[in-house]
Amino acid sequence: MATWRCVKQCGACCHLDPAERPDLEEYLSPPELAEYLSLIGPDGWCIHFEPDSRECTIYEKRPRFCRVEPAVFQDLFGIEPEELNDFAIDCCRQQIEGVYGDRSLEMLRFDREVGI
Ligand code: SF4
Ligand code: SF4
Repeated sequence: MATWRCVKQCGACCHLDPAERPDLEEYLSPPELAEYLSLIGPDGWCIHFEPDSRECTIYEKRPRFCRVEPAVFQDLFGIEPEELNDFAIDCCRQQIEGVYGDRSLEMLRFDREVGI
């Protein structure tokens, strides 16, 4: 069975361009939406994303909506904890496809590391 994990040297979910996430208002509260929008840099990437290392520079203090945690996903998306693994894998693959492409190195690495 594939097991979700965040794969290093990815960062696809830190590409925050709202054009790729038209349903933001459906799951973020108004304050969270404002926070989300405030993080978007001119290139569509989060202002806290470090492109060379592809790491979050505020990782310990990152917003709630950046956290793949059972309570967060249950609250934001109505996903039960036992559904989180498959849902998170789908989210990552969707985001990686949008940012890097379906046949990208990032997608190959993700699939390999989660066991697809
Ligand atoms: S898309 Fe998934 S694997 Fe890539 S950085 Fe985000 S959580 Fe990690
Ligand atoms: S705060 Fe960190 S984890 Fe969240 S989108 Fe920005 S760089 Fe990514």
